[in-house]
Amino acid sequence: MNQICLKALQASQYTEVIDLLSNPIAIVDYNGVIQLVNNSWKNFACFKRYNVNNWVGLDYLKFHQQNEQTASSQTSITQTLGKILSKDVDYVQVEYKCEEKGCSHFFQLSANKVRINHTDYLMVSHEQVLAKEELIKSQQRLKIAANAAQIGIWDYDLKQQALHWDNWMFKLYGLSPDKTQATYQIWKNSVHPEDLAHAVRDFNKAVSTGENFDSEFRIIRGDGEIRHIQASAKVITDKQKLAIRLIGSNIDITQSKKSENKIYELANFDHLTKLPNTRLLKDRLSQSLVLNRKLRSFSSLLFVDCDHFKTVNDLYDHNIGDHVLVKLADRIKDSLNAEATICRQAGDKFIVFLPHVSNEKVDAMGLVKSIGRKLLHKIQQPLKVKGINFKLTASIGITLFNGANPSTEELLKQAELAMYKVKESGRNNMSFYDPQMQTEIIQRKQMETDLEQAIINDEFNVFYQAQVSAEYGVTGAEALLRWFHPKKGLIYPDSFIPLLEETGLIITVGEKVLHDGCKKLQQWSRTPEFKALTLSINVSAVQLRHEGFSDYIKQLVTQFQVQPGKLKLEITESIFIENINATCAIMNDLASYGVLFSLDDFGTGFSSLCYLKSLPLAQLKIDKSFIKDLSINNSDIAISQTIVNLANSLQFDVIAEGVEFAEQKELLQQIGCNNYQGYYFHRPAEEDKFEAFTLAYNSNSIANKSAQGNLEIDNKNARLRA
Ligand code: C2E
Ligand code: CA
Ligand code: CA
Repeated sequence: MNQICLKALQASQYTEVIDLLSNPIAIVDYNGVIQLVNNSWKNFACFKRYNVNNWVGLDYLKFHQQNEQTASSQTSITQTLGKILSKDVDYVQVEYKCEEKGCSHFFQLSANKVRINHTDYLMVSHEQVLAKEELIKSQQRLKIAANAAQIGIWDYDLKQQALHWDNWMFKLYGLSPDKTQATYQIWKNSVHPEDLAHAVRDFNKAVSTGENFDSEFRIIRGDGEIRHIQASAKVITDKQKLAIRLIGSNIDITQSKKSENKIYELANFDHLTKLPNTRLLKDRLSQSLVLNRKLRSFSSLLFVDCDHFKTVNDLYDHNIGDHVLVKLADRIKDSLNAEATICRQAGDKFIVFLPHVSNEKVDAMGLVKSIGRKLLHKIQQPLKVKGINFKLTASIGITLFNGANPSTEELLKQAELAMYKVKESGRNNMSFYDPQMQTEIIQRKQMETDLEQAIINDEFNVFYQAQVSAEYGVTGAEALLRWFHPKKGLIYPDSFIPLLEETGLIITVGEKVLHDGCKKLQQWSRTPEFKALTLSINVSAVQLRHEGFSDYIKQLVTQFQVQPGKLKLEITESIFIENINATCAIMNDLASYGVLFSLDDFGTGFSSLCYLKSLPLAQLKIDKSFIKDLSINNSDIAISQTIVNLANSLQFDVIAEGVEFAEQKELLQQIGCNNYQGYYFHRPAEEDKFEAFTLAYNSNSIANKSAQGNLEIDNKNARLRA
């Protein structure tokens, strides 16, 4: 029968047709005997190993029973084929796996009834299920990758409420898959109580919206260790777009979290005091500005700068300075409530940010003022570091702002400006920012630029004011700086010397005065009428302490052959506030070289008789403030008298400045002061005018005595040098 069938089939057009198909195809009769196979069947890789030469006539069911690879495939194939052979159905389909060289291949076997020459047959075909293979491969890849990356994979069936964890999930959570069944509750129990609310919220949000689940939380592992987890999942939805399942992962991000925290700390906190740095402060400030705008409330910035902190660093090593700063930071922190952000800006500068102080400006000012006062008081308390006692003070600049205010940078600048204002007016106090300060700063900045330009353009000039002796007439002059501004005209030194000193430009300008002065002395020495004249030149502390100052003076003295005793340097008592020993050393060095020193503005500073005695001084200059009301104020006379007596007892010269009236000169003469400087005699003027004045003044009756006087002055100077 087989033969007949075969022949009949061979004769049919089926042979050619099935040979054209690329899938392995066989025609099997209802006894299960193979009647016909196409070329693909003969070459079908899955059957190759069975070495079947002739397929026709083979019992196909038995072939499968004998040769199938896996038990599950075998049962299902024979069972499925059995169904169609018993004519229960006309069409069957079954998937099976075929292992080849260690690889799994998936096939789909389908059999359907065909009628050929009035007889029913089965057409059996095999088709490779590549998609399934790909899926399996990618699952395997995922598993390997997940293992390598230490990613825990989980799968939650929402309908069944069934949670599946892979081994890594158990490892991450420090639980044993043998002892624990993964459930939603187990997961919740593992999440850190502080993070549970947001983790559950993220999960529920994903379920309700169908969006991906993304969350970060800490877990407390089975062994108690806390770990940071990054969880994410894809939500699978049904046709109604309702979430039915979540498939996702858990990654342990503890290490990166730690580095992240470290980086955050380094970027936002000061390493010494552990206080926030300016960067963090600015962040908080800009956040608050947004809120301020909504709330219309006033916030405040306090710029706290320690007074004279430099001396702490100068006197002790930096380690001590650091300790002091840490204690200071603690004090500031202790004086404020938790709402305040305290930041260390740099060095001894701290910024306090008080958010939302009050909705009313007046109230806010009052509150901030009392906080400022509290801070000043706290900072003033004695502080002990490594057995050394410190008493610090601070200057505080304050700015108040609400929604209408400018940028964070601007606010910081305002508070800083207000702080500088406090510094200028004596420190250890506080001051609120006022827009006028801004104007002053702009003007100052402009003046600084102008001063730099003035040096380049040589806009400075030296004026001379006569110094007159009661007996000998004009005996010398004081060199006084003048600035001829191209637009503003003549500018007096009081308005630019402080800025020159602050910027250090005084060094260059001062050198010019010294240079021109010494040159002048040389010219005078060549003229009989002027050869006895001395020249007083003002020297500020910055100049005197500048490295190379005495060398520069010595160089000028040599260059212009300045006669010893003709050059007098005027210094003020403020020069002794800092580092008196170093100052004395410079003065002694120059004095031994023949240079004289005059103590200017005497009586206004903190004169200590003790140091007066030890300084190489030649002259005391009574300050003009005592001279001003000399004729009406008895105490001014008493002070002037005391200064004269002091000068006499220490064998110093004495001169009064600011003498504007004859009466003042008379009174001074009565108390024994015979040298004067002031408008009564001569106003500061250009060199030629001063010289003309000197000639005229000295050529009258007093001039006769002057020749003799000059001789005496020279003798006196020689005595001083000795
Ligand atoms: P100072 O050293 O006390 O100079 C005396 C000031 O009093 C001068 O002001 C002078 O013009 C003024 N004066 C003179 N006689 C009278 C008077 O009878 N009545 C009144 N009311 N004032 C009188 P000036 O020239 O404006 O100088 C101001 C200050 O500038 C000087 O005060 C001095 O401290 C500083 N200075 C001037 N030139 C230089 C300089 O070249 N270098 C440095 N470092 N400072 C200088
Ligand atoms: Ca002076
Ligand atoms: Ca003076």
